[in-house]
Amino acid sequence: MRNRRWTLARKLVQLSILVLFLSPLFGLKVIRGTLGMSQVFGVFLADPLAVLEAALAAKTVYLPVIYAALLVLGFYFIVGGRAYCSWVCPVNLLLEGVAWVRERLKIGRDLVFQGNPRYKLLGGVLILSLLSGLPVYEIVSPVAVLMRDILFGWGTEILIVLAVVLLDLFISRRGWCRYLCPLGAFYSLIGRFSLLRVKFQPSKCTNCARCDEVCYVGPHLTRQLRSGGETLIASGDCSNCGACIDACKEGALSLGLRGSAGAVTSGQASRG
Ligand code: SF4
Ligand code: SF4
Repeated sequence: MRNRRWTLARKLVQLSILVLFLSPLFGLKVIRGTLGMSQVFGVFLADPLAVLEAALAAKTVYLPVIYAALLVLGFYFIVGGRAYCSWVCPVNLLLEGVAWVRERLKIGRDLVFQGNPRYKLLGGVLILSLLSGLPVYEIVSPVAVLMRDILFGWGTEILIVLAVVLLDLFISRRGWCRYLCPLGAFYSLIGRFSLLRVKFQPSKCTNCARCDEVCYVGPHLTRQLRSGGETLIASGDCSNCGACIDACKEGALSLGLRGSAGAVTSGQASRG
């Protein structure tokens, strides 16, 4: 049987976080707010990109919000920047479902965007925030729109989410998260320095390339690992989703701390 330990753990975390954020709808008060700004068990947390945008827009900093963003930043510095994408983001959860449908419908069109446009988009929204005095991306971000609409009522802004769904379904496989999302770009910048990494043991690898097939970011991450004599994925693009660890029957991949000899969790130990 195919091992899906990391994938199942991730699904559980994604759904639990979504349910927790939706809990105020059912009268529970564990979490208040959205992924942009929330109070979790009384602790204030803030999306660092939203805070940066707001600071640029207002041309001032509000210290309590900076602390709330630093808490979140510190967390992703440890667990991997784009761990936000695969373990937390509700749009990723939605688009994983879209990818599943796309596969079932055998839609082959897969537009590849050259030159990492998400970094240009990230720069663009920061400049626009500064110039316009508005946190531009927070207003139109599919993540923020989805959270706001689910929590506070549906509006026409949900068309933004629909556009992203249609892009991923008919035009580019996982195109939004791979090429366009400025929030993903922001977190991948943090991810370059993060401590938790996918580690590789070349001696166990049989070069079967199963890890290439499952990576939603693209096969280049695991391919580079196997061809370049590297022992960990250093790229900020990796979301520590664990799909490649699940896919490796030889236990050549695992999650471990950068610089440490051993892995936190052995892929081999989790073989199904
Ligand atoms: S790239 Fe953007 S939409 Fe995709 S998972 Fe990351 S934050 Fe969410
Ligand atoms: S390299 Fe592995 S952990 Fe990183 S995004 Fe790809 S499948 Fe997920």
